Amino acid sequence: MMSSETERAPCGKAASPPSPQLPRGLPLIDGQLAEPLSPGRLIDAIDPSTGRTITQVHTCGRADVDRAVMAAQRCFESRAWRAMRPLDRGRLLERLALLVEEHREELAVLESLDSGKLLGITRAIDLQFIIDGLRHYAGWASKIAGEYIQHSPLVPEDAVYRAYTQRRPLGVVGGITPWNFPLGQAIQKIAPAIAFGCTVVLKPSPETSLTTLRLGELILEAGFPAGAVNIVTGDGAEVGATLVNHPAVRKIAFTGSTATGQSILAASVGTMKRVTLELGGKSPTIILADADLDRAIPGAAAAIFANSGQICTAGSRLLVEAPIYDTVIEGICDIARGLKVGPAFDPATQMGPLISAQHRRRVDSMVGNGLAEGAVALAGGGAAEGDGWFYKPTVLGAVSAQMSVMREEIFGPVVCAVRVDDPGDIVRIANDTPFGLAASIWTRDLDRAHLLADRIDAGTVWLNTHNVLDLAMPFGGHKLSGLGHEFGNDAMQAYTEPKAVCMRLDPGSMRY
Ligand code: NAD
Repeated sequence: MMSSETERAPCGKAASPPSPQLPRGLPLIDGQLAEPLSPGRLIDAIDPSTGRTITQVHTCGRADVDRAVMAAQRCFESRAWRAMRPLDRGRLLERLALLVEEHREELAVLESLDSGKLLGITRAIDLQFIIDGLRHYAGWASKIAGEYIQHSPLVPEDAVYRAYTQRRPLGVVGGITPWNFPLGQAIQKIAPAIAFGCTVVLKPSPETSLTTLRLGELILEAGFPAGAVNIVTGDGAEVGATLVNHPAVRKIAFTGSTATGQSILAASVGTMKRVTLELGGKSPTIILADADLDRAIPGAAAAIFANSGQICTAGSRLLVEAPIYDTVIEGICDIARGLKVGPAFDPATQMGPLISAQHRRRVDSMVGNGLAEGAVALAGGGAAEGDGWFYKPTVLGAVSAQMSVMREEIFGPVVCAVRVDDPGDIVRIANDTPFGLAASIWTRDLDRAHLLADRIDAGTVWLNTHNVLDLAMPFGGHKLSGLGHEFGNDAMQAYTEPKAVCMRLDPGSMRY
């Protein structure tokens, strides 16, 4: 998610999957690793690089979600939590950062095993983002401030009004995360919730629960108060939906697909839950005729092939100005054909597997639909060899605006190449999508870069780079890509709400 795998991946050292310490596979509820109330329901954790089962994880039921939410609410309402100094909430996160740092290698290996992400990437990028994220929000805890407001009374009276606002924590937050960046997403929900004074019940994706469960064990070791952070495992239909519908949950912080985000938004109407929805995308990579092609071509390839295209901001539509179209497409296809696709732990691998057999079937069927509608596979276009869920880096040409491959998120290593003959069409083509998550523009012309960036309807626009996130930069989607923002100052708005306190002062009491 954070960077370009094909450009920057340091190679992993281990050639075959090591055996990291596995979590006990138990949810974290009310300060304890607890067996679910109806035990015996287990989910297989599968290594996408080999298709083999790593271990099994207990899955929760509705009653467990209720227990977790009630524990989070008790903690939130407790005198101890309310009285905790903001700096001390920050210290909890700092202690967790130190523990994650201490267990960095173990967590990187476990993440690669469970998600198929390249070990070099989880080591260098994911774990760094996680440790930085915990420290970033540890600092925020003591910097929450409201406003002083000068009043203008409607009628003259012998009184003075003073008003101020506090930023009040929302309460119990339900965090729901996807599988493409499991531990990073868990931290993106837990760290701001704690920093801004909320408590949290987190549900990881059933495909990738292992690192989040291991994090739960480290949260216990860090000494978080019971109920401040709870982790419940299971599927979306039962466990996720129970969290979303629970009346004591005041906010849902969701990252995942647009379809699930829409169902969460609809379900939150009855309780008026606050929601932040970080959803899917169909982001354009735009290469202008004057771009530095030595950077733009590998940059555009990394934009789509990093993490096997399983990045919400992946550059899945490639818009290239006509004079350089053939050169760019040839360059991207050469990279696609040359990328070594393989297991996460092979140091030679440049692109890992997709998350599951089911997801690979979905990607392949979407590519098949595109080909049936008239697209042409210029590179790839099918599964790659191996025991894992590998898919060939794929470049589709001869695409048109209405084709499903151009309109729907594929979430795999598949890019649609579009030749832009008239520069006046760039903005229209870039914005011709129901999504609006991100875009990148590659050019040496500063005027065009910034003026085009102004016109792209997306939450993030990169110039001469792609997939670079920073905790100080607000992140969120326009249109069907989401609602609300994470990171930056916006995170505080997302986990707190203002409370105005207004007081009438009687000048008659002034004896000086
Ligand atoms: P998904 O929507 O299928 O699942 C995400 C999470 O929601 C999982 O934990 C799942 O169990 C849960 N869930 C499913 N149905 C639910 C329901 N009815 N109620 C409550 N929870 C439910 O998404 P995914 O396939 O895991 O992840 C891939 C998607 O995530 C892609 O669309 C990708 O673009 C998106 N994503 C977005 C961002 C972002 O920041 N914008 C980041 C990463 C991934």
